[in-house]
Amino acid sequence: MANIPDLARAGRRRAKLNGMVSSGTPMGATSGQGRQAGGTPRAALADLLAGNRRFVSGQPVHGHDVTAAAAASGDQQPYAVVLGCIDSRVPLEAIFDQTFGAICVIRTGGHVLDRAVRGSIEYVVGQLGVPLVMVLGHERCGAVQATVEALRTGQRPGGSLAHLVDEIAPAVTEAGLDDPAVQPLAIRRHVRRTVRTLRQDDLLAAPVAAGRVAVVGGLYDLASGEVALLDPG
Ligand SMILES: [Zn+2]
Repeated sequence: MANIPDLARAGRRRAKLNGMVSSGTPMGATSGQGRQAGGTPRAALADLLAGNRRFVSGQPVHGHDVTAAAAASGDQQPYAVVLGCIDSRVPLEAIFDQTFGAICVIRTGGHVLDRAVRGSIEYVVGQLGVPLVMVLGHERCGAVQATVEALRTGQRPGGSLAHLVDEIAPAVTEAGLDDPAVQPLAIRRHVRRTVRTLRQDDLLAAPVAAGRVAVVGGLYDLASGEVALLDPG
């Protein structure tokens, strides 16, 4: 069975992505209804991406009505946690066509990590048994753009906004501040850096090494609605 990094590489090309989901071990049977007992990272990823394809095709199956809320009002058994940006154009449950109780969602500017975010992910993985963590960046991210501007002008923003800039800055520097494509390059680097940080997290490293948990990076296309997996880089 292919491991998650293999799947991530394959996921960059849509044809391969489709092949991945339609072959191999049974997966995606939950259709966003919640985690199956003994769920694997591979099955969770397939289910998440299947939801994105339903969304892109204009055929979502999960309306956000109160009946769905009531149906999920007992114990929660989410099968994935998605860390994304606060951007209003990227509502995570919608773009993955997930219903109540299916995925945990964490959103910060530029999906920046802090202790609260890391603790939340540790809780979901450690206490709820979720096998998949996805870090989802998106094109034209305002937090990355603000970081590029701050580095170019040398003017660090005040308040806690400085924390976002400080956390994104290494990705911008790696991408090259003078590169005309610095923003799209930095967005991808920042996703990969966030993935690497989480894979090395105190409480996540062991289950990741054992293959019980996968941390993957993705990129959301604002225009098409598609989520593409990023290879580890
Ligand atoms: Zn953003």
